Formats: sequence, C-alpha cells, structure tokens
Amino acid sequence: MRYFAQILGVSLGLMASCNAQDAQNESNSMEKKTYPVRLTPAQWQDSLSDEQYYILREKGTERPGTGQYYLHTAEGTYSCAGCGSELFTSDMKFQSHCGWPSFDREIEGGKVERKLDKSHGMMRTEILCANCGGHLGHVFNDGPTSTGERYCVNSLSLQFSPIEKEGQTSP
Ligand SMILES: [Zn+2]
Repeated sequence: MRYFAQILGVSLGLMASCNAQDAQNESNSMEKKTYPVRLTPAQWQDSLSDEQYYILREKGTERPGTGQYYLHTAEGTYSCAGCGSELFTSDMKFQSHCGWPSFDREIEGGKVERKLDKSHGMMRTEILCANCGGHLGHVFNDGPTSTGERYCVNSLSLQFSPIEKEGQTSP
C-alpha cells in the first residue's frame, strides 16, 4: 500500500511539475483566451438583442422567474444564443424552482467551459460556451439527480429548437 502511495506520489509530483511547465507556457495565451467564434463588441451588439448582449458578453443575470425557458418543457435542444453551439437537451432539464432553466448535465464534447468566479463575494463556478465564450450562468453541486450538478442557465443565453421526430407520420 505504501509502495503504491509512493509511486502515486512520484507520478503526481511529475504531473504537477509538467502542469506547472504547461501553465507557464500557456500563461500568456491564457490571458487572451481565444474562442473559435470571435467577434468584436460592436459585432456582438449587432447580432444580439440588448438583453442577450448584457447576459452573454457582460456576464449579466436575468431576473429569476422571468426567462422564457424557465418553465419550458418541450422536447428539443438548447443551443448557445450567441453562436448556435448545441449545449443541452430537454432530457437534461429539470424543474429546480430556482428561477432559471436548470440542467443536470451538458451535451458531451467539451462544449461548456468552467471558470472560477469570485465576484460578488462568492466562490462560484461560472459556465461559458466553449465555442464563443458567451456567459451562460453558473454550475452548482446541489443537483437533485444522480449527477449531483445543477447548471443554472439564463434563458437569454439559450436558443431552443424543438425535436424533429423521425419515423413518425401523421395519420
Ligand atoms: Zn456560443
């Protein structure tokens, strides 16, 4: 047991030093993180409504209970309102009673980026669209489902597309 612990310790030590190196190499690029979709503030203002711009680009928060997708139960896909990247499906949505659309997981593939957010005197995990850097909301560890997570997302950050049911013909 101790042997394994030592091996593990050595491996972790190596990983830590590698990461430190990586972190140093990346430190410059991290400050100016770029996303596949990049627009200037003026271009974003043109393509988004004022409310969407405030939420997505200035990390605003819509008033609880006011969002169009809060009590939305239709089947389909929720994409980023900024760039159209698919982020969540209706299967992942649950009624959280917190005032914002809530999901217990995201569509796989690194579509949602997580960032430590120390604003407003709190330690929270901000979630952003990994494709355009748009602010989505925050993720918390108090989810009621098996994932234990609650993605609390602004409706204004999302665009819903209803599911297209294949193989179903109308009578
Ligand atoms: Zn996006």
